Amino acid sequence: MNSASTVAELLPWHSWANTIAYALLGTLLLFAFGHFVLAAGNETLNRMVRGGTLRRSLVVGLSIVGSLPVFALGIILAERSAQSRVERTAYRLQESAEAVSYAIDQFIDKHLSGITSAASAISAANSFDEAQMTHSLLLYHKVYSDFLTMLNADANGDIVTATSNMTGFLAAVPDLQAHNVGDREYFKEPMATGSSFVSQVFQGRNLGSDPIVGISAPLRNDDGALVGIIEGSLDLRAFERIDNERAGLHGAVVLLTDQNGRVIYSSESAGFAPLENISGNPLLTTGSTAGHGTVYRFDADSNHDPADFLGVASQTHNGWTLYLRVPLDVITAQLLADYRSAALLGFIAWLVSLVLALAIVRRVTQSIADMNAAIASFDLDTHDEVIRTPANTFAEFRPLFRQIRERSKKLKTSYRRLSGSIAAGDELRSKLTRAIVQKEAEVADRTADLEEANERLRDLSKVDALTGIANRREFDAYQKRIWRLGKRESSAAAIVLLDIDYFKIFNDKLGHQAGDQCLTQVAQAISTCAARPLDLVARYGGEEFVAVLGNTTMNNALVVASRMRNAVVELEVSHPGSNHDVVTVSVGVAAAEPTSAATAEEVLQNADEALYYAKAAGRNCVVYRHEGEFETFVDDGIKLDETNVLSILVAKRG
Ligand code: GH3
Ligand code: MG
Ligand code: MG
Repeated sequence: MNSASTVAELLPWHSWANTIAYALLGTLLLFAFGHFVLAAGNETLNRMVRGGTLRRSLVVGLSIVGSLPVFALGIILAERSAQSRVERTAYRLQESAEAVSYAIDQFIDKHLSGITSAASAISAANSFDEAQMTHSLLLYHKVYSDFLTMLNADANGDIVTATSNMTGFLAAVPDLQAHNVGDREYFKEPMATGSSFVSQVFQGRNLGSDPIVGISAPLRNDDGALVGIIEGSLDLRAFERIDNERAGLHGAVVLLTDQNGRVIYSSESAGFAPLENISGNPLLTTGSTAGHGTVYRFDADSNHDPADFLGVASQTHNGWTLYLRVPLDVITAQLLADYRSAALLGFIAWLVSLVLALAIVRRVTQSIADMNAAIASFDLDTHDEVIRTPANTFAEFRPLFRQIRERSKKLKTSYRRLSGSIAAGDELRSKLTRAIVQKEAEVADRTADLEEANERLRDLSKVDALTGIANRREFDAYQKRIWRLGKRESSAAAIVLLDIDYFKIFNDKLGHQAGDQCLTQVAQAISTCAARPLDLVARYGGEEFVAVLGNTTMNNALVVASRMRNAVVELEVSHPGSNHDVVTVSVGVAAAEPTSAATAEEVLQNADEALYYAKAAGRNCVVYRHEGEFETFVDDGIKLDETNVLSILVAKRG
């Protein structure tokens, strides 16, 4: 039990420490819930915030930070509301107690003055007979209907007349002369003091046995002597009305006791019966000792009341005590409702901040995604496209985009320049390549031309310009080749040397031009006679010709030489200075056998010597050396012997 008025004293379970603990617990729950929602809960939320600690941290952090102040504010408001609720309850308790006391006073006073004025009126009439008084009593009882019964008694306390309203029907109660109320306080007191009187509660006996409060006043005769009393017994149920009207506190309980500690009126829920003596009850002693008007707290630690409550005691004018009390669970329920509202407010704030945080994070991540997409789609090869700042991005991101845009522009410019340079280089290279190819083709052409020219030159260098057959140089080279071949393959080789007879005279007589023509005819004629693969006919110089016959024996060479001489004769070129009348040739033949060690020069020398002998022998003949002697070869028509065995007739030089 306590006499107290602060929240902490009236509600000891309710403290700041508790409140903060609950707030922290709530925050922790929200935090855990937030993580749960983000990790495994709503799929959409999960999708929105998945993939990065930035999103998750921002969303959870922002939502917690955003909801905490609201949560704290809710707690503070609930706390203040708790205080004001308790204070208000205490105040209303006091106020109601005063009001109810006042109403009781009014109620008692009203009936007291009613009884007093009735006594005065009856005294003034100075007529105390039964009929007269019954008449007056009925009149007054009609006005003060809260009296269960009314009566008049004479100076001895014997009842003269009485009325009753117990059944709700007001009527005189006859034949009560035998009943005496001389022992009642409401008789003794006015008779002793001559004043009006309000009794404590007591049990009626003559007109029923209800618990009642008696209000009485003395009757006087003309001399002023006390001749009796008038009394009204108050119906205690009338206090119910006052209770209902005045104690407007929800769940409040009213208890009214008299000076003896007996119950005059008790709210039904208080469970006391009228007349019950509860002077030793701790509930009441608490109220009394706390001081009238002081709100006290009573714990449910006794057998008298199962619930905690706040209470207040108040004194009426006539010394009765009014107890007014409110169960604490009523206040507690209201406080819990307040806390629930605060928690709900905090939760809503959390939700709102969560949505807000999601929106902000979305914009941030969207900006990053936009940036990424812009960079990803950035192409160096296109001309106009650059990285643009997304319209909906944060101001903080704009410089970043600007930087990227500037750099990308520069990059693009450099890239274009570089590409241009590379293209120019490529073009230059292809031009050069083309030029080189062209030049190479030209060089190839020139080379081919040169090679052709060289070929021609080479041919020219080998060919005699006048006759068109091989020249002396070609003869020299060819002779060496044939000799090398002969040595390697052990084959024979022959030299046939020819000189036109009296050619000086021919020239002199027919002219140099005719001479040239003759030379050409002779060259052609002798060429046709040595047409085998290893044969070569060349102009040796002036009007001299030479034939190199590879793989040819002396015998075969003599046949070839003879044919040549014949071929010239058969040209029948007229020669006015010759004894033959036509152009003829003298021929010298020399050959080298496979086994011989004779050199080309030696064989040529032999042929030259044989030619000399042919001139000396009369010209137009073929001469060769046979066994050391020069002999003229006579062609008797024998053909060439393929086996190289030849029978020839040798004509003596003559
Ligand atoms: P032989 O019978 O002794 O050989 O008397 P030949 O007159 O032929 O001898 P010679 O060697 O004295 O004369 C050669 C002449 O051939 C001299 C020259 O006028 C002539 N001759 C040499 N080369 C050419 C040439 O290319 N064209 C012409 N038309 N004549 C030439
Ligand atoms: Mg000559
Ligand atoms: Mg000659």
